[in-house]
Amino acid sequence: MKHPLTLTVVLVMWAAPTADAECKCDVYKLNGGWCSTCEAGYLAGVRIKSEFLFEVLDAHGHNIDPSAIRCAICKEARKSNSFCDTCRRGWIDNKVYMSRLTYHLTKGEPKILFDIKCAICKEGAARGGWCEKCRVGMVGNVAIKDKTDFDHAAGAYRRLLVAVRLSSQCEMCAVALMSDGRCTKCKKTYKNGEVVSDGQQKE
Ligand SMILES: [Zn+2]
Ligand SMILES: [Zn+2]
Ligand SMILES: [Zn+2]
Ligand SMILES: [Zn+2]
Repeated sequence: MKHPLTLTVVLVMWAAPTADAECKCDVYKLNGGWCSTCEAGYLAGVRIKSEFLFEVLDAHGHNIDPSAIRCAICKEARKSNSFCDTCRRGWIDNKVYMSRLTYHLTKGEPKILFDIKCAICKEGAARGGWCEKCRVGMVGNVAIKDKTDFDHAAGAYRRLLVAVRLSSQCEMCAVALMSDGRCTKCKKTYKNGEVVSDGQQKE
C-alpha cells in the first residue's frame, strides 16, 4: 500500500515549479498572504487587490538585524513584544511588523467563521466587534482576547476596509490612509483615516 502513495508524493514534488502557480486563496483567506495566481492578498479575511497596499501592511512581519535598530523604544519593544509609536512598528518574537493592523492581528488567532457558534462573535467579525459573553473580539476572521489589542486592531481594520476601496482609485492614497502619510500624486495628507490637507487647491 505504501508504494503508490510514495509515488504520488514524488510526482507532486517533481511538478513543483507549476505548484507555485496554484491558487492558495483558501489558505490565505484564513491566515493572511498573497496569492500570486489570483494577484490578490488577504488580511483578516479581507481581500486586497493592491499588492503595494498589501506589502506595506507587512502581513507576516520580518526579521531585522538587532544591531541595525537605532530607536531606543524599538530596542525595548523588541524585548517586550510591544509597539513603537514613533516608528509605527510592532515587535513579536523578535520579528517586526510594519503596521498596527498586522501587529495586533498576529497576537490573535485566525478562525473559520463558519465554525463560530456564538451569534454575537459571528456578527461582530464583519465590522470588528467585541463579545462580552465570550470575552473575545473578532476582527475579520481573527479572534483577539486582549481588549487593548482588539481596540487597536478593530480601528485599523475599519480603516483597511476604506483603504481597500480607495486602492481601486489610487494605491498611494490607500497606503497613506493606512499609515498617516501623504500621497504625492494626489497631494493629499491623511491622519487617523481622514484627509487632513488637500494640497490641490493651494498648488
Ligand atoms: Zn488564488
Ligand atoms: Zn521605534
Ligand atoms: Zn461571543
Ligand atoms: Zn493618491
